[in-house]
Amino acid sequence: MFDVKALRMEFPALERTLYGRPMVYLDNTATSQTPRCVIDAVESGYVSAKANVHRGVHTLSQEATALQEAARERVRVYINAASASEVIFTRGTTEAINLVASSYGSLLESGDEVVITVMEHHADIVPWQLLAMRRGIVVKAAPLLPDGRLDLEAWKALFTDRTRVAAFCHVSNVLGTVNPVREMVDWAHSHGAVAVVDGAQAVPHARVDMQELGVDFYAFSAHKMYGPTGTGVLYGRESLLEKMPPWQGGGEMIAHVSLTEPTTFADLPYKFEAGTPDFVGIGAFSSAIDFIERVGMENIAAHEHELLEYTTARMLAEVPGIRLFGTAPGKDAVISFLIGRHHHYDTGMLLDKLGVEVRTGHHCAQPLMKALGIEGTVRAGFAAYNTRDEADAFVAALVRTAAILGQ
Ligand SMILES: *Cc1c(COP(=O)(O)O)cnc(C)c1O
Repeated sequence: MFDVKALRMEFPALERTLYGRPMVYLDNTATSQTPRCVIDAVESGYVSAKANVHRGVHTLSQEATALQEAARERVRVYINAASASEVIFTRGTTEAINLVASSYGSLLESGDEVVITVMEHHADIVPWQLLAMRRGIVVKAAPLLPDGRLDLEAWKALFTDRTRVAAFCHVSNVLGTVNPVREMVDWAHSHGAVAVVDGAQAVPHARVDMQELGVDFYAFSAHKMYGPTGTGVLYGRESLLEKMPPWQGGGEMIAHVSLTEPTTFADLPYKFEAGTPDFVGIGAFSSAIDFIERVGMENIAAHEHELLEYTTARMLAEVPGIRLFGTAPGKDAVISFLIGRHHHYDTGMLLDKLGVEVRTGHHCAQPLMKALGIEGTVRAGFAAYNTRDEADAFVAALVRTAAILGQ
């Protein structure tokens, strides 16, 4: 049974008021709020389990190591990776993609090609551009259709015998578009390219299965899925990770360091985890997955989609001059919009004064904004704890904002 009222009680932040009104938090696409069980896990990590992982013979250190490795196994099971060696802890999606671009990228040669899409977050554009500067590879971006779907035919047409990497998001953080990952992975593989998938917006809203999707690399962040900040995951196919060189050097990632002979590296996944990881955050991340499983991802997804449909219909019917960006069938629960020709910033500021927290700007997707012919949007995204009352408050605030802004 999905009981949103009871669920909200688990999130201390949702008790806040803003300007004398209950806060309506709709910036979930940027980061979600945190349930008590995750906050408790962070606290207990500092109170009773703070010892460095992998280094100590002492009890506390062994406990911390065991917690981290239990979290790795928790993630492995949750995303159905074939082996825990394929789960690399990173600071988040951004670092995960940088790891792939840096390490796998070092195996590419001048003239090799990386195919991305216009809907990518900067985290899935700039690492490839940096690689292009270093190694002379070529980055090509596929266009979109008017409703915010990827133009699949145009995307497929970008592949040549030099294509080595296809990097794309599972779900767009602006448009909500859900890309057909399996079809795209199969296409990439049939052209000898690896598929690198930015899953930052997918994992918080749907169950993902690495083996079913067939991806080679998959990146996501804990803080967007009810987890702590500073932690994320790179899933990588073991056979590829084995071939890839380390990307950062330091403690934890070595087998033996010598000044006179070649230094040797640790086995997977430690080869890619230099330095002390955020082991407290990693433990709390595991609690966030427990939370999602307890609530049920199917319940969360159904609830969010109901809110999406309800809110979208009311916005279209009641907000004068509303313009929606991203109307692909089956899209995720994120709404990007503008009111008439009014600047996204003005709309966002007025909504804030009415207690509604939304994102404004380019959402780290400037090439997408350019393709849409705009500078930015206002963005509202739903999470498990949002309610229909909040959707009503949001629409009422929008109607009022539109009236204040005028035509
Ligand atoms: C948030 C986001 C990122 C970046 O995630 P970080 O947690 O900031 O590293 C990348 N891609 C998409 C689609 C995102 O929504």
